[in-house]
Amino acid sequence: MSSLAQEESRSISENCTWGQRKRFADGKVTVPFKRFLGYDRGEDGNLVINEEQAETVRRIYGLFLQGRSPHAIAKLLTARHSGKNRAGSMGVFSGRIKCADCGGWYGSKVWHSNSKYRKTIWQCNHKFDGGEKCGTPHLDEETIKQLFLKAANAIFAEKDGVREDYDSIKDTLFGTAELETERLRLQEEMNVVEELIEQCVAENARVALDQTEYQKKYDGLAGRFNRAKGRLSEVSQAITERQAKREKIGRFVSALEKRDGPLTEFNEDDWYSLVEYATVYSREDIRFTFKNGMEIKA
Ligand SMILES: [Zn+2]
Repeated sequence: MSSLAQEESRSISENCTWGQRKRFADGKVTVPFKRFLGYDRGEDGNLVINEEQAETVRRIYGLFLQGRSPHAIAKLLTARHSGKNRAGSMGVFSGRIKCADCGGWYGSKVWHSNSKYRKTIWQCNHKFDGGEKCGTPHLDEETIKQLFLKAANAIFAEKDGVREDYDSIKDTLFGTAELETERLRLQEEMNVVEELIEQCVAENARVALDQTEYQKKYDGLAGRFNRAKGRLSEVSQAITERQAKREKIGRFVSALEKRDGPLTEFNEDDWYSLVEYATVYSREDIRFTFKNGMEIKA
């Protein structure tokens, strides 16, 4: 680009971002209120928190951060709504117990379903698909719960160290300042190029241009736009991932700090807020991977 064109595009860029900032500064927000949980339209047309719905939004957000699936969240909310407090523990270990032999997940199976010996056991799903069977053992739910309590109490004992580790790495691992600068630069780049494309098209309509030259110029600009767009999507995703990880581990560290005696009884909230997954190597070797990445053999 010639320096004149650069100058021109810089001024276009400033105008574009200025326009966006102005719209936000003026508070011109368009929201489909009827379908927007947690907010109502206030008298001045702006957002007002609907406290009753906001409670649900906070709960959904909390459950999501614990790593629960949208399906599980919907089930929990429905159960709560209909007066039941628990949606059952069936789903608690789904997708969270890994077979060390094949790397697949354990699935559940009910034994002696019609007798007083009824119990739910978990085993490698691979056992059912007809291939070579894994050597990893099946586990009953009570065993998993007891092992979890043991591993969780081991990590509680080290909570000060966990907090120190988190504080020392969080900015390096989860910092987003550089990515955010790049995101801003890419958005500006896209604004500039979009404007240049419009100019290019308008010029072609106004003046008789060599069409080969015109097409070359147009394709060049379109390529530049798409490269910036592709990178912008990567950068945005990286930012979201880092923020989600930071939030997840931050919550994990706070959950550890809030507790001052050992865990004596299994409960789903502890399980969800502490454990990423467990890996079964053998009956004697079951390791829990916690949300901060720490692995503890129970
Ligand atoms: Zn397996």
